[in-house]
Amino acid sequence: MVSLGERPPAAGFGGDLAALAELDEATLLGGLRERFVRQQVYTDVGDILIAMNPFQPLPLYGREVSKQYLCHETSALPPHIFAVASRAYHAMLGHRGSGPRSQCIVISGESGAGKTESTKLLLQHIMNLCKGNSQLEQQILQVNPLLEAFGNAQTVVNDNSSRFGKYIQLRFQKNTVQGAKLSEYLLEKSRVVQQDAGERNFHIFYYMFAGLSAEEKEMYGLLDPSVYRYISGRFGTQDIAQRWKHKYKEVCNALDMVGFQEQEQVDMQAILAGVLSLGNVTFEPEESSGSAKVSEASWGWLKAAAGQFGVQDDELLKCLICTMSVTRGEQILRFHTQQQAEDARDSIAKVAYGRVFGWIVCKINELLAENVDTEVELGEIGILDIFGFENFAVNRFEQFCINLANEQLQHFFNHHIFQLEQAAYKEEDLPWETITFNNNEPTLDLLLAKPLGLLSLLDEQSAFPQATDKTFVDKLNSSFKGNSQFQPGRGHVLAFSIIHYAGKVQYTAEGFLEKNRDTLPANVRGLFTDSVTPLLSVLFKATISRTGTLMPHVKAKVRAEADNKFNSTRKQTAGAQFRHSLMVLMERMYSANPHFVRCIKPNSQKEPGVVDSQMVLQQLRYNGLLETIRIRRDGFSWRPSFEEFAERYAILLFKPDVSLTKERKSRLFFKYWHQEQLVKCVEQLERAAVIIQKERISFPVPKPR
Ligand code: ATP
Ligand code: MG
Repeated sequence: MVSLGERPPAAGFGGDLAALAELDEATLLGGLRERFVRQQVYTDVGDILIAMNPFQPLPLYGREVSKQYLCHETSALPPHIFAVASRAYHAMLGHRGSGPRSQCIVISGESGAGKTESTKLLLQHIMNLCKGNSQLEQQILQVNPLLEAFGNAQTVVNDNSSRFGKYIQLRFQKNTVQGAKLSEYLLEKSRVVQQDAGERNFHIFYYMFAGLSAEEKEMYGLLDPSVYRYISGRFGTQDIAQRWKHKYKEVCNALDMVGFQEQEQVDMQAILAGVLSLGNVTFEPEESSGSAKVSEASWGWLKAAAGQFGVQDDELLKCLICTMSVTRGEQILRFHTQQQAEDARDSIAKVAYGRVFGWIVCKINELLAENVDTEVELGEIGILDIFGFENFAVNRFEQFCINLANEQLQHFFNHHIFQLEQAAYKEEDLPWETITFNNNEPTLDLLLAKPLGLLSLLDEQSAFPQATDKTFVDKLNSSFKGNSQFQPGRGHVLAFSIIHYAGKVQYTAEGFLEKNRDTLPANVRGLFTDSVTPLLSVLFKATISRTGTLMPHVKAKVRAEADNKFNSTRKQTAGAQFRHSLMVLMERMYSANPHFVRCIKPNSQKEPGVVDSQMVLQQLRYNGLLETIRIRRDGFSWRPSFEEFAERYAILLFKPDVSLTKERKSRLFFKYWHQEQLVKCVEQLERAAVIIQKERISFPVPKPR
C-alpha cells in the first residue's frame, strides 16, 4: 500500500538516496518503502547509513555477506551496516600524518529503532576485520549479552530496551585490537523498584529464576518468583521461560569468558536475591509514636535480605527505620515515617543494584584493558549506543535525561552535517546555496544553560532542603515564561513540556528533586562495607567516579580526593553527573572522525514487513534527512588527501602500463595540477559526462568516497 502520495523513485536508484536527481518527501518515503519490502533495510545517503528495523531475522549477516564487506572498497556493494564498520576500520588504519585518527560511529534513533542490534553487528564485523580470532576478540563480543542482561529491560515500546547508554572504545595497534574500554551513562535504577504497566524489571532477575537449579535457588534463598513485589505479576508463558533459561546460560558463559571469578558470580546473585527480598519488607506506623515499624508479616523478608546481603538484621533494620547522626559527640536517632522507611528501602535496593552494574562495567574494563607500551599511539573506533528518544504516557526524570542525551546527539549530527560542512564551502569560496536545517540549539540552551537552564535550576532547587517538586515547577514557569521551547503544565498538574527536536514531551515533575539529589540513605555505606559478602563490601568501599563507575585501582592520591568528594555532603547531583559525563563524551566524539547510522522504526507494533508512513515520515523529518540528502547530493562530501586524489585519478595522466611509485605519481600529479593540464582533463571529463547524460548511456562507475 502506498499512501501519503509517496512514490517510488525513478528506475536506476541503486541504494544511495544522494544519487537521486529529484527529491522530495514522497520520493524519499517511497524509495525507503520499496527497498524495505524487498528486505533491503539499508539505504545510503552519501556516507550516512539509514537502517530500517526489519523486526525479523534476515539472511543479511552470515559469513559470506561479512566476507564481501571485509575489503576496503565497499562502495560497489549494496548499503550495509558492515560497510560502515569497514569504512571506520579502514579510515582508522589509513589515516596518515600524526598517528591513527580516532573514528566514532554514532547510532541514533528512537527507542526500538535498532541501535543496539546495529552495535552488535558493527562489533561482529570489526572483529571479523581483525581476523585474529584472539581471546580478546571473543571477550569483546561477550560484553553485549552481559550488559544487556543487567542493563536492558522490556518497555512498552521495546522488549529489549537499553536502560543505560554506552560508548565502547576499541583500541588498535596496526590492524589488531589490543583492548576495549566501556563508558556507561545513567542506568535507570528506578526500574529496580518500580515498573509501569506492560514493563518489566531488568532481564537478569527473570533469567535467574528461569536458569537457576532448585538447589541454587535454595542456596540463594529464592522462593517462587510470583511472591516478589519488585518483579511480581510479570512472568510470561512457558516459551518465554525457556528463552530466559537459555539467556541465563548465555550470561553465565559471558561472565566466564570475560573473566569473572566464580565467587564474584555467586556474590552477585546473592546481592540480587537480597534486593528482591528487601523489596518485600513493608512498614506500618507504631500506634504510640507514629514512626515506622516493620510489619509483622514481613520480618521474615527482612531477615532473608540481611542474610543474602551478609549483614546483621538489626543493622539493616536501623538503616530502614531511622537516621542516625552525630552532633557534638552525641548520637542522635531520628525515626522515619512509613513513607520515609519505604523510600529508604527502595533507595537501598537501587543503590545496591546500581553498584553491581557499575562494578560489572568496571570489571569488564579491567579485563579488557590493552596491555601495550603506553608510548605507542593506538588507533581507536568508538561506538555509541544510547537509550533512544522516549515519549511515554508518563515521562519522568529518566526520560528527561534520555531525551537530553538524544538532543545532544542530534546537535552533534547537525554540527557535522550542516554547520561544519557549509562553513568549509564558505571558506573555500565554493558556489553554494545555504541549506537550512532544524537547529536545536534553543532547546539545548533551555536545558543546559548556566546559571539559568533547566538543569541548573533543578540543581539549585535540589540544594534547598525545603524545596519540593512544586517549588521546582513554579521556578521553571517563572523563569521560562515566553520561551518557545517550554510550556507550563495545564491545570493543576505538576508538569511541564519541552519542545524537543523529535517533538513535544510532557514531563511529570513528581520525583525530579529526589531523583536528582540521589542521596545514599544515611549509614548504608557503613552497613555494606561491614558485609561478610566480599563483593558487597568492595562495592561500597571502592570509590565511585563521576560517571558512577567504580575505580578500585586509581592511584592513592586520586582516590583519596575522590573519596573526600564522595563522603562530602556536597556530592554531585544525578543531573550534574550526567551533564558532566555527556560533556566528556561529546569532547571525545568531537575529536574523532564520525560515521553516522540513523535507525528508523517502521511501525510501533514491532511487525515485520509493515511500514507506517506517518511514523516513518515523522522520523525522517526530525532527523533532518531530507536536508541531509540535499547536502550530500549537492555538496562536496568526498575529501581525499592529495595523495589519495592523485592515486585515484593518475589514470588521467599516465598510461596504465607506466609503472611509477605512489610518491612519484603524487609529485608529478601535483606538478601537472599547477600547469593546469589536469584542469583541462577534468573539463574534458565533464564534457563527456554531459554527453553520457544526454545520450542516456549507462555503465557502472565506482562511487568515490
Ligand atoms: P532502545 O533505545 O530502546 O534501546 P534500540 O534502538 O536499541 O532501542 P534494539 O533493541 O536494537 O532497539 O531493537 C529492538 C528490536 O528490534 C530487537 O530486539 C530486534 O527484535 C529487532 N531488530 C532490530 N534490528 C534488527 C535487525 N537488524 N534484524 C532483525 N531484528 C532487528
Ligand atoms: Mg538499545
